[in-house]
This record gives sequence, structure tokens and C-alpha cells, in this order.
Amino acid sequence: MSVTQQQVLDALAKVASPRGVALTNAGVLSAITANDGKVFFSINVDATEARAWEGVRAAAEEAVRAIPGVTMAMIALTAERKAGPAAAAPPPPHSHSHGVQPAAAHKPPQSPASPMSKQSEIPGIAAVIAVASGKGGVGKSTTALNLALGLRDLGLRVGLLDADIYGPSVPRLTGIREKPQLNDDKKMIPITRFGLAIMSIGFLVEEETAMIWRGPMVMSAITQMLRDVAWGTLDVLVVDMPPGTGDAQLTLAQNVPLKGAIIISTPQDLSLIDARRGLAMFRKVNVPVLGIIENMSYFQCPHCGTQSDIFGHGGARHEAERLGVPFLGEIPLHMSIRATSDSGTPVVESEPDGPHAAIYRAIGAKVREQLQGATAAA
Ligand code: ADP
Repeated sequence: MSVTQQQVLDALAKVASPRGVALTNAGVLSAITANDGKVFFSINVDATEARAWEGVRAAAEEAVRAIPGVTMAMIALTAERKAGPAAAAPPPPHSHSHGVQPAAAHKPPQSPASPMSKQSEIPGIAAVIAVASGKGGVGKSTTALNLALGLRDLGLRVGLLDADIYGPSVPRLTGIREKPQLNDDKKMIPITRFGLAIMSIGFLVEEETAMIWRGPMVMSAITQMLRDVAWGTLDVLVVDMPPGTGDAQLTLAQNVPLKGAIIISTPQDLSLIDARRGLAMFRKVNVPVLGIIENMSYFQCPHCGTQSDIFGHGGARHEAERLGVPFLGEIPLHMSIRATSDSGTPVVESEPDGPHAAIYRAIGAKVREQLQGATAAA
């Protein structure tokens, strides 16, 4: 049964708003996407009003879920601070468990805050770590997934959240085609694959839909994926961040309760400059950088095994030393890493006894070590 926008609007017309009018007349709704039983939209209000609208968001979600044929409803409350004097007021504190919060994605933080004070930790998850890169195409997602599998091989309970909302690649990398179901508490159940609990915005929307989301809605959707997903008990949740170091990434780094961040770089100078920006971004919001990984570090011939340093191997290691952050390891540019990624069977899973799996596991061990250090320091 397909659900129409009109059905959604009819349901929302019965929801009251703090402005004394029906939600549909309050002038706060984004465009509504109703696709194949899945409904997405946002309620956009000013940050100073966000608290009053939390209940409305929940009521709207309930009303939409009650429409026959709706299988999934993701309704984000996005709050933007207006320009002018009101911009100086802090957004209302986020104190409940529902996870949708004022995003204020266009305003980067001016002063550093402790990573633990800015957001409550997620119950059941011991450590959330971000995998980031200064730019796209350096192999961030491939590394995030194989690193998650490497951590799994160390005996840890691991989840993977694909927060690369502009181009979610985890569905392709894992071959997952199914949609997450809701449990009795209306939380999304992550898809289990390769022993990992996996969630991606790509499971919920078509790639094109994800691309057009505006900044505040991106943050809201990611927060919802973090907190409205039944992750269960995890030792580590690996978050595959959107590439880059713009305001959206900064806000994400600031709003997700991160224990640490890992930066992926290729050896080229250009990529290293971007990596430096990534490092500066995490430092700005006081998230410990657990280390740098050099991906596509050297070319390893699939036939003879000869190593060629086509990108000037070693750049990231030197950079890490110079910047005083740990160097976590080098991953070669190898055909089987690409082929296994593209076929949805990551190399750590499909070639567990091969040299690449060993590299990812070794990096995983270093990450675990760094995390233990970070926890002890905290
Ligand atoms: P990003 O997330 O940074 O955009 P991806 O992980 O999607 O990058 O990787 C981009 C492309 O590079 C993919 O085709 C992937 O298979 C390939 N790739 C990534 N790392 C390696 C590697 N070490 N060796 C060979 N191919 C790789």
C-alpha cells in the first residue's frame, strides 16, 4: 500500500502546535517525502523554541506511524539560530533520550567544549569513534568498514554507523539491501552483517534524497540514527563521517559523544593538507585524535607482490610525527581491497587469512590501545 503526501498532511493536520494552530498551518514543515511507505520530513523552528516543539515532533511521528501502510517515519526537529542578537543565546540544553536536538549546523562553535559534556553518552555503547577524512575518495568508508571488522576480530562487539549522508556507501560495501525494521519501542533495529550492527541512511532513502538534505536536517537525522537505533551493547561504534572539514562535519564532531577520531589520508601532499584540517577540526572541539592511517600507501602488484611508492609512501607517518599524533598504520593500494569492497564482501571478511586482514587487525589493535589510553586519561 503506498502512502501519499496528502495522507501525511491529513494526519499532521490533527497535531496541535505551540503556536495555537494545527502543525500544518504553523509554517514549519519541510517538503514531505513519502516513498514506498517511508516518510521523511523536518520541522524547522528557531533554536529558542526548540524545546517547546519536542513533544510536537514526537506527536507528529506517532500520527504518521499510525497511517496504514507507513513502515518507517523519520521526522527531524531542526533548529536554526536566527541572525541578530538572538544568535548569541545558547541553544536549549539537550536533556532527554529522544535524541533530536537543535542542530544549528551553520554556526561552528567558537570555544572548545569537553566532548563528554556536550552530549550524553549513548546507553550501551562504551565508545563512539569517528573515521574522518579531509576530502572524499581517500578510502574512508572502505577503511571504516574493514577497521570495524578488524576490531570485531579482536573479540569486541562492534557497530558501524554510516553517517556519510551525502553519499552513503555502506550499503554497497556490505551488500545490504534490506530495510531496518522497528522494534516494540519503535527503535530501528540495525542490520547485522559480518557480526557487525550496521546502520546507514542509505538503508532508508535513495541516494539522491540524501544528497539534497540541508545541513540542520543532516545533523538531526544522524543524531536520530545514533539514538533511535536499538544498538544493543557495543564496545565500539565506528562512525563513518561525511568527508571534509566544513561546518556540517564540525557540528557533527561536536554533537556526537566521541571518544576519539581517526583520520584517513593518502600520502600525497594535497591529501595531507586536508588531513591537517581534519586534525584541527577535532582539536577545536576537544575530541582526541586517536591517530592517522595512511591509505593507498604504496602499490602492491597483485601478480608479483612488488611494492611501488606511487604516491610517495610515508607522508602520513611523517605528518603524524610532526603533529604529535599516533600513526596507526599503512594500507596498500591493492586490487583485492577494491574488488572486495565493490562486491560487498570486505577484505577482512572474505580473505581473513590474507595480508590485508592482518593489517586492518593490527590497526584495530592500535586503535583499541589508544582508546584504552583515552579512557584512562578521561
Ligand atoms: P571514501 O569513503 O573516502 O570516499 P571509499 O572507501 O568509497 O572512499 O573508496 C573509494 C574507492 O577506492 C573505492 O572504489 C574503494 O574500493 C577504493 N579503495 C579504497 N581503499 C583502497 C585500497 N587500499 N586499495 C584499493 N582500492 C581502495
